[in-house]
Amino acid sequence: MNLNDKLHELKKRLGEVEDLHRASAVLGWDQQTYMPLRGTAARAEQLATLDKLAHELFTADAIGDLLYKFEEHAAKLDYESDEASLIRVTKRDYDKAKRVPPALIEEISRTTALALESWTQARAESNFKLFQPDLEKIVELEIQLANYMGYAERIYDALLDEYEPAMTTAQVAAIFDGLKAELLPFVRAIAQKADAVDDACLHREYDEQKQWNFGIDVIKRMGFDFEHGRQDKSVHPFTTHFGLGDTRITTRVDKQFLPMALFGTIHETGHALYDMGYRVELDRTPLEGGASLGVHESQSRLWENVVGRSRGFWKFYFPRLRAEFPQALHDQDVESFYRAINKVQPSFIRVEADEVTYSLHILLRFELENDLVERKLKVADLPEAWNAKMREYLGITPPDDAQGCLQDIHWSIGSIGYFATYSLGSIFSVQLFDQAVRDIPSLPAQIEQGEFGGLLAWLRTNLHQHGRKFTLDELAKRITGEPLQTKSYMRYLKRKFGEIYGL
Ligand code: ZN
Repeated sequence: MNLNDKLHELKKRLGEVEDLHRASAVLGWDQQTYMPLRGTAARAEQLATLDKLAHELFTADAIGDLLYKFEEHAAKLDYESDEASLIRVTKRDYDKAKRVPPALIEEISRTTALALESWTQARAESNFKLFQPDLEKIVELEIQLANYMGYAERIYDALLDEYEPAMTTAQVAAIFDGLKAELLPFVRAIAQKADAVDDACLHREYDEQKQWNFGIDVIKRMGFDFEHGRQDKSVHPFTTHFGLGDTRITTRVDKQFLPMALFGTIHETGHALYDMGYRVELDRTPLEGGASLGVHESQSRLWENVVGRSRGFWKFYFPRLRAEFPQALHDQDVESFYRAINKVQPSFIRVEADEVTYSLHILLRFELENDLVERKLKVADLPEAWNAKMREYLGITPPDDAQGCLQDIHWSIGSIGYFATYSLGSIFSVQLFDQAVRDIPSLPAQIEQGEFGGLLAWLRTNLHQHGRKFTLDELAKRITGEPLQTKSYMRYLKRKFGEIYGL
């Protein structure tokens, strides 16, 4: 076989692995949208079989041989070329997949299946003790996993790398320390003026079908293409991607809380626009996908917060919204509505947190996770440690563990190392948007006209098309000329919320 034949062979094999992943994603989507309750057991078997087959196909020695043969050749190619990137990224995935014994993967999946149940019950009863033994097992298994995967400096590096390739714990800690120093006094200053913003209008009665229709209108304007995707309802909103031409989002609607569907829909559409924008040539290869969870989240948050919670966006949309809901919004104008959707309030639940306090919820989890896997904190002492940090960062104490350390699903499914990516996404979203405005000064004026094509085209050209070719820092440097930094993000928060709260 010559090099071309070998590349063809490699792509054929990788394409089959992708097909299995996508089939598994379709089943997962169905499970969360339309599958009847009693379908769970059969579905779990089907998913386990597909995942096992995909893992076997991907870790086959034949793929390893091809990758090793190509490595030398790829080193001579342009770093950014499709071929060099395919070999580089696939090899990274392959080496990692090979390092972890299948028995450990199985053990983790068995333990987390049980832990998901004990966590669900523990949260419902707000009884941490019900979840504690399973969480202890999960932490031990994650420590083992990290040791198999290997790390240079801190054990958390290995876990973080699963979600944010090439980012280190030290880098994230430095970013978070910088944020903390500025955010803590800022949140305190805002808390002094808690009454300055009234968001009661958001809790009035909003017809569900009208909310749904309004959301569809917004995301069509943003560029969500219904010939390449669809939206359905689910308990927890998510985005999933089955390949070129098929990206799905879900949303949920609350009749008495307008932001739930509205901003949830915009958020998931931000993810979907990224997935819809990979270059055709990357289809059915490991390069087709978001660069990392942090980069993916930068897209959802850019659209949800930087655009969707901006004054300019509502200059265009508020008159339309009020025409749909004349009763609920009769006493509101653009300004009062803009303030309402940007109200800052220290709260217990991360997913309900505003833009300013959100990162403090993440900091807390990042620090506790590090302490757990470095064995500086015992699982049994987690509730107390959680509450102490809530007091320190947000000035409030959760009344129970359901509103404290039991609130998130992540630990029960073994996702330690995940949380940091939410904040990295927020930080990157502003760095990207600032650059977009430098490149296209009329962008804010376009948004005020309900025109989003300019922003989407910029994102497609600079970010979306590359798929998984680059890491977050590589993308940041390519697009904005510097690595991920917090100064754009902090300037954005201080300007926006300083104005709203008169600080
Ligand atoms: Zn998201």
